[in-house]
Amino acid sequence: KPINTLTKKQAATEAAELRPQLIQWGKEYYDADAPTVADDVYDRTYARLVALETAFPEIVTADSPTQRVGGVTRGDLPKVTHDIPMLSLGDVFSLEELSEFDDRLRANVDEDFDYNCELKIDGLAISLRYENGEFVQGSTRGNGQIGEDITANLKTIPSIPQTLSRPLTIDVRGECYMPKAAFLALNERREAAGKAPFANPRNAAAGSLRQLDVQVTADRKLATFMYNIADYEPLNTRTQSGLLDELAELGFTTNPSYQVAHDMTEVGNYIERYQDKRSDLPYGIDGIVIKANPLPLQRALGATVKVPRWAIAYKFPPEEVQTKVLDIEWTV
Ligand code: NAD
Repeated sequence: KPINTLTKKQAATEAAELRPQLIQWGKEYYDADAPTVADDVYDRTYARLVALETAFPEIVTADSPTQRVGGVTRGDLPKVTHDIPMLSLGDVFSLEELSEFDDRLRANVDEDFDYNCELKIDGLAISLRYENGEFVQGSTRGNGQIGEDITANLKTIPSIPQTLSRPLTIDVRGECYMPKAAFLALNERREAAGKAPFANPRNAAAGSLRQLDVQVTADRKLATFMYNIADYEPLNTRTQSGLLDELAELGFTTNPSYQVAHDMTEVGNYIERYQDKRSDLPYGIDGIVIKANPLPLQRALGATVKVPRWAIAYKFPPEEVQTKVLDIEWTV
């Protein structure tokens, strides 16, 4: 039913039905790494809940999935508190919605600014802490405030430097993912061994990283792209694009496909280019992320309880086509 035909009571009733369903799907996805519905089913249901709660803000509940970063922590893994929370991202599904985000942001900001366009890597968020340039602790996002300590697991990933090129004390954030070829090979091995295959590379990466036995992680061929820092003060740069360059200089692997866009036409061109290239990439992407490029502006805009105000994800439609990856059929 169109939202504008609903009474507040009807909206509240519908929202109360959607929330437990989303919470249940979230548990399966984040906790067990075993979703039972496709992401676009989750996304559409979530978008409906957002629309209901936006039209009738009084019906929002504290436990609504719209008010919490999705994720749980495994009881048997040690916990880490994130001093600066790890957030989710707001998302849009059309260029119109993306333009509306741009209009809203520019209406609230006096200065002219660019966006940095990045690929949205289909993995799971990690945080890496370095003290005086040495890797000391790595963690998952968890519920955004408290994550899991997976330092030993992360030490097995070749793209994570043990020592940085400068002795900085920083928390660097990014994505841990499983390349498509490794995912296909892993699922083949699992099926041959009579085990359930992972639903997608994201779940395979999460399941491989959150392991008590680090040898399991070491065998899974995980990789990382880092793209954020909890506090940019120790860096020389003051832009998001410069941050990616500086992280690479420090020794991290960053995704080279980023691009600064001056306006929404350039953002649209970037989206089109990577929508076309998507199936040829050796790793999964589920959209692109645009971020206000000046880091002080990011800080000034801040975040809601769940998402930064200075960034948004544009989600690609689900990938239906079959393409060849290393001579193996790949379907999402
Ligand atoms: P999200 O994954 O859509 O977006 C936020 C995340 O994007 C960040 O935490 C970060 O890890 C990641 N990211 C990747 N590249 C990035 C980049 N360049 N810059 C910044 N961040 C980047 O949001 P979410 O809250 O983590 O999860 C929601 C997603 O999980 C949806 O896609 C949803 O479909 C899926 N989900 C599915 C089910 C299911 O049952 N199928 C259940 C719950 C959630």
